[in-house]
Amino acid sequence: MKKVYIETMGCQMNKSDAERMYGMLDYLGYEQTEEPKKADMLIINTCSIRQLSEDKAYSAIGVWGKWKKNKPDLKIIFSGCVAQQDGINVLKRAPYVDLVIGTQRLYELPELVKKIENGERIVSCDEKPFAESSIKINRAKSVNAWVPIMEGCNNFCTYCIVPYTRGRERSRKPELIINEVKQALADGFKEITLLGQNVDSYGKDLEDYQNLSWLLTQINNIDGKFRIRFVTSYPTDITEELINTVIELDKVCEYFHIPMQSGDDYILKKMNRRYDYKTYKEICENIRNKIPDVTITSDFIAGFPGETEEQFQNTLKAMTELELDYSNTAAYSPRKGTVAAKWVDLYVPEDIKTDRLARLNEHNRECCLKSNQKFIGRNMEVLIEKFESDKNIITGRTRNNKIVHIPYNRDLTGEFIEAKITSARTWYLRGELVE
Ligand code: SF4
Repeated sequence: MKKVYIETMGCQMNKSDAERMYGMLDYLGYEQTEEPKKADMLIINTCSIRQLSEDKAYSAIGVWGKWKKNKPDLKIIFSGCVAQQDGINVLKRAPYVDLVIGTQRLYELPELVKKIENGERIVSCDEKPFAESSIKINRAKSVNAWVPIMEGCNNFCTYCIVPYTRGRERSRKPELIINEVKQALADGFKEITLLGQNVDSYGKDLEDYQNLSWLLTQINNIDGKFRIRFVTSYPTDITEELINTVIELDKVCEYFHIPMQSGDDYILKKMNRRYDYKTYKEICENIRNKIPDVTITSDFIAGFPGETEEQFQNTLKAMTELELDYSNTAAYSPRKGTVAAKWVDLYVPEDIKTDRLARLNEHNRECCLKSNQKFIGRNMEVLIEKFESDKNIITGRTRNNKIVHIPYNRDLTGEFIEAKITSARTWYLRGELVE
C-alpha cells in the first residue's frame, strides 16, 4: 500500500477534515503513516488564523519540496484555510505542489488524487459548496469523536478570516450527522462533540428548518451511555430553548464555549461583534443561574487595533467579574483581506501586545484556579481518556469539562467512573477513585 502523511495545523475543524481525508485516501489504497519521510503522499492541512501558522505551513512544504528532488513520484498536497485563501498563488510560491485543495472542495479529494497520480497539477478552491458523500472517516484514537454539523460563518468579525476561507454557513443534513454519530458510538467512542464555527446557527439554511436543540434531542435519544457537547457558540445566538435543552437532556453536558473577545464596548463594535458587555454578562448570568456547576469558557484577543490600556483593562475586569472558567487568549494578528488588517495606523505596537497578552494569561490562570477550587471535596463523574502506566495515573474529564488526574494502576480508558476531588491545580483537578 502507498503511504500518506497529513500534517494538520489549527483548530478542531481542520483535525476533523484530516480524519475525513484519511478515510477517503484509505478507500484509494493509501495507508496512514506518522513518518513523513516514508510517505508517498504528503498533505499539509493549513490554518490561516495567524500569520505564524501560515508561515509554518510554507516552511514545512519547503522542506518537502527538497525531498521531492530525490523522490520525484512524491505527491504534495496543500489543503485547508491557507489553500482556500491563496489558491493559485500557492503554486507560484511552491511550484513542487501537485494539488491545492480549498476547504470547500474537500469531498473532491479522491477524484483529484487520481488526476495528480496521472501527472496533472491542480488548483481547486472555488467557493462552490460541496456535495457531501457518505465517506468513511478514519478517526484519531480517542474517547471523543468530533462531528462537524456545519461549516462556515456569516458573522464577518473584522479580525477574522474564517468567512473568507470556510465560506458562508452551511448546515449538514441531520440524517448524515445522526448516522455519523451512530457509527462513532458503534466504534466505541463515548463522547460526541458537535462542531461548527457557529454551532447555534445550525439548521437556519436547511429546507426543513431544524435547530440545534432539535438535533441534540435526536442524538440524546440514541441508546447507550455517552456524552454530548457542542462548540462554538456565538453569544447572542444562545436561546432560552437551547439552555433548557441542556438542562433537560441527560447526555448533554453542562458546558458552553462562548467567545467574548473583548470586555470593552467600543472595541466590540470595532470587532463587529453584535453584543455589548452588558448583554454578554446577562447571557452568562442566565446560564449560570439555571445550570448549576456549568463551565463557561471564552476567547479573548489582546491588542486589537486601536485598543487603549483603559479598554484592555475592561477585558481584564470582565474576565474576573464573570468568573470565566477558562479562556483561550491570543495577541491580535492581522489577517490579509480582513477589515481590521487595513487599520495599520491603529496597530498596537508588538511590545505592548505581548505585555497585554501576558497580563491576560495571568488573569486567566487566576480564574482557572478559582474555578477549579470550587470542586474540592465533591464527587464527580469522570470519563477516563488515558492511562499513564509509568506514573500510574488515569486522566479524564468531568461532564463540565474539568480535567481530573487520579492515581490508579489499571487502564480504565473509555469508562465512566466516580471520583472524589481532593485538590485543585491551575489547569486540572486531582481526585481519587470512589469504589
Ligand atoms: S463568529 Fe467566529 S468564525 Fe465567525 S467571523 Fe466571528 S470570529 Fe470568525
